Amino acid sequence: MTVILIRILSALCTVVISCTCCLAAPPRAAHLDLDVTLDPESREFRATAKWVAAPESRFILHHALSIGSASADGVATPAVPARRTGDMQAWRIDARPGTVLRVEYSGALPRLDRTLDHRQVLSAMPPMAAREGTFLPAGAGWYPRPANLFSYRVRLSLPHDQRGLVPGRLLAEAVPRESGERYVATFSFEQPADGIDLMAGPYVVRERIVKRRDAEPLRLRTYFERDLDALADAYLDDSRRYLELYSDLIGAYPFTEFSVVASPLPTGFGMPTLTYIGSRVLKLPFIRATSLGHEVLHNWWGNGVYPDYARGNWSEGLTTFMADYFYRARESDAAAREMRLAWLRDFAAVPAAADRPLAAFRSRTHGADAALGYGKSAMVFVMLRDLIGDEAFERGIRAFWNRHRFRVASWDDLRRAFEESSGRPLRTFFTQWLDRPGAPRLAVVTARANAQGGTTRLVLEFSQGEPAYALRVSLELVTGKRSEMRWLDISHARETVALAVDAVPDSVRLDPELRLWRTLAREQLPPILRQWIVARAPRLAVVSSDADVRLAAQELARHFFERPAKQVDHIEAVRGPDPLLVIGLHREVDAVLSMLKLPGRPANLSGVGSAQVWTVRDENGGALIGVPIAVISTRDADSLTALLRPLPHYGAQSYLAFDGSRAIERGVWAAPGRLVSVTRSPR
Ligand SMILES: [Zn+2]
Repeated sequence: MTVILIRILSALCTVVISCTCCLAAPPRAAHLDLDVTLDPESREFRATAKWVAAPESRFILHHALSIGSASADGVATPAVPARRTGDMQAWRIDARPGTVLRVEYSGALPRLDRTLDHRQVLSAMPPMAAREGTFLPAGAGWYPRPANLFSYRVRLSLPHDQRGLVPGRLLAEAVPRESGERYVATFSFEQPADGIDLMAGPYVVRERIVKRRDAEPLRLRTYFERDLDALADAYLDDSRRYLELYSDLIGAYPFTEFSVVASPLPTGFGMPTLTYIGSRVLKLPFIRATSLGHEVLHNWWGNGVYPDYARGNWSEGLTTFMADYFYRARESDAAAREMRLAWLRDFAAVPAAADRPLAAFRSRTHGADAALGYGKSAMVFVMLRDLIGDEAFERGIRAFWNRHRFRVASWDDLRRAFEESSGRPLRTFFTQWLDRPGAPRLAVVTARANAQGGTTRLVLEFSQGEPAYALRVSLELVTGKRSEMRWLDISHARETVALAVDAVPDSVRLDPELRLWRTLAREQLPPILRQWIVARAPRLAVVSSDADVRLAAQELARHFFERPAKQVDHIEAVRGPDPLLVIGLHREVDAVLSMLKLPGRPANLSGVGSAQVWTVRDENGGALIGVPIAVISTRDADSLTALLRPLPHYGAQSYLAFDGSRAIERGVWAAPGRLVSVTRSPR
């Protein structure tokens, strides 16, 4: 199961591990047959499970469920309760391996807890039922698990006004015509799965059948509550587009169904053949633009080829690279650079103590892990493609898929696929980025030019920390308004490189496009709103005399900052490194900036929209030296109130303009990095 974190626009998601042991073992032919009857309103759950006994017939059920009867090859056999750990009760049946076990069990499930927030749903949840939505997570002990990997068939019976599903192929479905009848659907999952998630709710089901060349038709569905029904067509269209895109890039979609299922909880989970996304966020445009594609792609990476978790989870990085990053790169080069900058910035914010090798990443539990498992991992694929070229990269991706479909694969398997497709050894590349924590601190120490015998040479001295990485890095040669890009190989802690050039450039700049995983210098980290949002001790200066604006500003600050802000009455006296947010009407803001000798309103925002937000690049010092300042300038109190909901979602931006609650302009301040002047030597 994979998870989207919804507050963050870049749609992070994590593979939830139900078992970290033995996944690397070859898939066994275990199979589970389940017959489930559920009444969400009363939360009453009844099930019959059938499977073939393994040498050790122990299994776990949630303590809310108890076993009514058990048999082995049709002969009644006692199911004996064993150890209880937390909410989970272990059971044991004495049966010869190979006999068919049949267990009937039932109970009242815990009530759906709608107070769970987007962080809590990332931890282990019990099986929960309610009329407005039922979610039985794979790891919640609602079925006996016959093996680490197993195929299954589930027959699900629900009241007439409920619809439900599990990942897999829809074999049969009986839709009730009268209220006395029940909805019954049967699903099968033929590939080895590591668990079963079950979802149900008062859904309206929309369906589209898509014909495929050389493959069975595809059944696309939405399971939405009635108030989301208007979005169903758009979700079906976009799902189809993403499925076609990745079928072309990687290999045919390996399943026959894909469904988008609305969840009453604030989550976005991805399982094979479906994604389960919070009803509230389904309405947000970025879910369709990014998260949906990311979840569709997990049907190949994560749910199609399984990561070898014990040896590092490559699937989030590859999915981020081929989904989130791919969409940004398709938008523009600038948008792609912005995403690389965001990865490097997140990494720069990771405390040294929390930094680990990428090979140690299994799933996201906190921000430091996300900076590695998503950011660094995706950047490894950016660097790999730069190194081996687009064609070899694409061939490697397809070969990896063909070879490891529905099997466990490791970073080593990826390396081998790309070594074969590119015909070059990649062990040094993968080892340094996977097994070493941190990043190189690469810098141009000196740049000199000399002319000798009719040729002009540029002699560059580089430094990086020890032990040195083997790096391929781009260098920009700047002459007046012209610039030229060169790629260099650097593999020593201190290294001198000579380049033949036609003319002596004025200056050089290292890796201006940020295509190398490295520790960025301060001048390459432009201020973005997240520094204010997550500040430990934020400060607020409302510089307005309008009572309504003052009220709206206080309310906005409560939504914007994660911690309460300290009020500042005398802005000119503010000192120290804690971030300050200034809010006022346009003319009031202009007056304050001028009084403090700070840079004025950015030209690209002037006169745009009803409210403008920006971080101040205080290059000239101003009166508040060293104080990070962000500004919200508004036409009136209502325009400020309109920012309550959208603004906290834009932490990755340096500046925005809003028309009401709609962002019509946004971006990150350019921070191209330090220009190193080229000195001319006499020879
Ligand atoms: Zn993901």
